[in-house]
Amino acid sequence: MPRPAPIALGPFARPARRSLNGDHPGEVGTALPPLVDHHVHLMLAGSSPADGLARLVEGGVSAVVDLGAPLALVDPLRDRGMPRVDFAGPFLTARGGYPLDRPWAAAGSVREIEPVDGSRSALPSPAETAISELHSFGASVVKVVLNADAGPVLDPATLAAIVRAARAHGMPVVAHVEGAGMSRLAIEAGADAMAHTPFTEHVDDELIARAVAQGQRWISTLFVQGYGETTPDFTRAVDNLARFRAAGGDVLYGTDLGNGEQPIGVNPDELAALVRAGLEASDLIAALIDPWPRVGAVEGVATFVPGPPPASLDEVPAWLATARVVPAEELDASAIAVGVAIAVGGASDPISASSAPLDRDVTA
Ligand SMILES: [Zn+2]
Repeated sequence: MPRPAPIALGPFARPARRSLNGDHPGEVGTALPPLVDHHVHLMLAGSSPADGLARLVEGGVSAVVDLGAPLALVDPLRDRGMPRVDFAGPFLTARGGYPLDRPWAAAGSVREIEPVDGSRSALPSPAETAISELHSFGASVVKVVLNADAGPVLDPATLAAIVRAARAHGMPVVAHVEGAGMSRLAIEAGADAMAHTPFTEHVDDELIARAVAQGQRWISTLFVQGYGETTPDFTRAVDNLARFRAAGGDVLYGTDLGNGEQPIGVNPDELAALVRAGLEASDLIAALIDPWPRVGAVEGVATFVPGPPPASLDEVPAWLATARVVPAEELDASAIAVGVAIAVGGASDPISASSAPLDRDVTA
């Protein structure tokens, strides 16, 4: 019986065969650009940050964005190799705001920002001072926490000052929103990304349209809203993300790794939740390979998913979770073109057994 045709994986997936010189000589599968988890906490993942990073690479992840940790912990991880680490450093919050009192918030992982006072001072505001310091310590994104359910939140003027200062340093602002009205506060302030799909409130279509028009990105983190249970938060988040996606919004794969129990590496349950929100296989791949907050993908490596591509969307999450990080030179060069649509075939001719037989795509 012939195998059913694989489903469309989009323009970035290519059939590939691994080099005869590597650990898995001649193994056939699919090549993808490097995968990114856009929301992790290295202070909470694995037995140590080094252990967490090593297991992320084993789990197919080439780059991570740490969205809350002491600078002293993440700064040394920036240039150590794989995976590539971008980080925010401390959570910026209102005086007395979340997550100051949380037991998991390590010393130095939360910074309270004094409100702007409205006076026309020649001195930098507390927000400007904080952002300059984060930038000089190598932070490439800014994380603000707006949790009205757990304490005071930054007022609009102070939030605007943070966004302005971050823009001046070329750093996107990522907002954690929790509690009534917090999605609107973040969107009206011009936050560049949501750290989580909003999960405590229904975001109406008008507000979603505004977020999409601004180019706001939403980092998924659906799995941690229920850990496999269909909780009200999970259901709300899936509904919000489905409408954000349908309106043309950019979805980034992110797990909030370190928050509760989940696999270190590509999490098939996060991807399965994205399927519930209406993402197709090619959308899952797009959410995983977006190099945000960078412009370019990690250099020198590619992703290899062994075996034949799946025939149905339901199988794609588990298949992607078998992804491996491999040296780029281990795969056919045509299979790892990054950041551009593949010249041959292109988006209208996604990977399939008929257009590009695996057995013809042999690495020299
Ligand atoms: Zn988080």
